[in-house]
Amino acid sequence: MGGHNRAKFKDDFCAVAAQPSCGCSINADYVAVCRPNWPDHAFVRKIKGNPNPPPKSFEAHHILCAASVGVMIVDAGGKGVGKLVGDTEWCINTRKNMIAMPLWGHTVKWYCNIPAVTLGAANRKAPPFKNLPQHDWDHTGNGGYQEEVDADLRDVVKDLKKAGHDTSTFDLAGELDALSSKFKSALKARGKRSGGTHAGWQAGRAAPNSQWYAPFSMAASVTAKGYPKLNFTQETMNKLKWLAKQLK
Ligand SMILES: [Zn+2]
Ligand SMILES: [Zn+2]
Repeated sequence: MGGHNRAKFKDDFCAVAAQPSCGCSINADYVAVCRPNWPDHAFVRKIKGNPNPPPKSFEAHHILCAASVGVMIVDAGGKGVGKLVGDTEWCINTRKNMIAMPLWGHTVKWYCNIPAVTLGAANRKAPPFKNLPQHDWDHTGNGGYQEEVDADLRDVVKDLKKAGHDTSTFDLAGELDALSSKFKSALKARGKRSGGTHAGWQAGRAAPNSQWYAPFSMAASVTAKGYPKLNFTQETMNKLKWLAKQLK
């Protein structure tokens, strides 16, 4: 989300990605409706101008992006279109249109910056957010996830304009819900490509030049990414040094 066009609504139709309250008749809290069970895997992101950023435990992803729905549906022109949209009770922030996703930082933290308490584990198991693509991978950009969603939304807009013109019946809410459902399934399926994210991570460790990254991408066509260097936190290094001393 670019932060633009976040405040879009028309009567009963809501594309306002505001949290905790969008203020429409449905009034869903988009973070609460998709909160996952991995709150203890937060990491702190560097944010420009914020010396003390809050830890990020997950990204609440709007499956149909608020900016796209705002520009393409709320702002759609044409005879009868505004009334059709305004008469549709639909909210961008409901559970149907939301999915919790990890960020690349969650995966790196899980596999690389292993805290001292897990030193005894020979192999890191799959994280609780396994088999989900990462929100910061192929979300936007050429051939990215958002382009796929926008292409399908354009078809909805075509039907919407046609219905506004000849006053035929058109279930806008139903069409949008169907798209949310389609892309939710697509994201879940993409996270399972090549055996899923855990198998992908291990494949990358064994062969960094392989296509280990496929399950981590949100898009149908995947952008290549370099395999991260495994590093340890200073705390872990100190503990290792301390352990080595005790064993002498
Ligand atoms: Zn998103
Ligand atoms: Zn709303």
